[in-house]
Amino acid sequence: MSSESTTKELTHPLIVDGWFREVSDEFFPGQAFCLKVEKILHAEKSEFQDVLVFQSTNFGNVLVLDGIIQVTERDEFAYQEMITHVPIFAHPNPKKVLVIGGGDGGVLREVLKHPDVSKITLVEIDDLVIKLSKKYLPKMAVALDNERVEVKLMDGFKYLADLKDSADEEKYDVIITDSSDPDGPAEAFFEQNYFELLNNALNKNGVVISMASENMWLMIQNLQKLRKICAKVFPVVKTCYVTIPTYTSGQISLMCCSKNPDLKLNEPVRKLTKEEELKNFKYYNSEIHRASFVLPTWANEIIYKD
Ligand code: SAM
Repeated sequence: MSSESTTKELTHPLIVDGWFREVSDEFFPGQAFCLKVEKILHAEKSEFQDVLVFQSTNFGNVLVLDGIIQVTERDEFAYQEMITHVPIFAHPNPKKVLVIGGGDGGVLREVLKHPDVSKITLVEIDDLVIKLSKKYLPKMAVALDNERVEVKLMDGFKYLADLKDSADEEKYDVIITDSSDPDGPAEAFFEQNYFELLNNALNKNGVVISMASENMWLMIQNLQKLRKICAKVFPVVKTCYVTIPTYTSGQISLMCCSKNPDLKLNEPVRKLTKEEELKNFKYYNSEIHRASFVLPTWANEIIYKD
């Protein structure tokens, strides 16, 4: 049921005294991240999740799914650039890219910066996310209407399962899982059979990257678990991370896997000139590509244990 609010009244269960509070015993035990709210733009329960969009005081418009911040207009570029350009520059010759989730369009906007990528597919389960992103997050959602992009409205897991017996032409060079967190419609994206489906949907040099949904300071055991799951399927599995103030309390880890055992992933195999990097990106560059795989000693020991 829709409860659109265009008033200054900040009546929403997740907003207390004018502050949106991101509270989750599962993801942020014992702590909460808050953003000051100017106006609720939309609050609605879709078929799949609770969707909230609000205008914040310092971070522009904010999309929240099931109580967890997904993007803010101010810092989204950090995450979108890293989850997109790390796998694409780690691949020798990417032509086809699949995005699972990502209905805000931000990852698509970044994929479109690669002129040699000729086929781009986005599989988003929730039409409401697309609709609200077009209205309130236009700098991301503009990519959804690009002619190089095909948008499929369906479950990403089912899309991959349907690809299982398809011909090589249907397969992808890079697959980016830009999903929500593991306690809603994206639950299956953190299990071994999902990574098996990803592996099956890739061409021979294929690379995947998945939002691991974890801050290494808070839930490092889950990162270790996900890395082990991936290692059962892919010969190369490496963790990199992004710093971003509003996303999983300031830092988010990404799990990057290669089907080709000789691909290093932490080394861009293609590079732009410095001028091109400056023109195209605000966060990504070839140095930060390498550096993002260098983990603090304690985190490295735990994530790569066994
Ligand atoms: N970049 C932000 C992040 O990772 O938090 C935003 C991503 S948000 C747009 C993730 C999207 O994944 C949501 O729009 C959600 O509807 C979609 N999603 C969740 N489960 C899905 C599924 N099973 N199939 C396809 N899309 C899914």
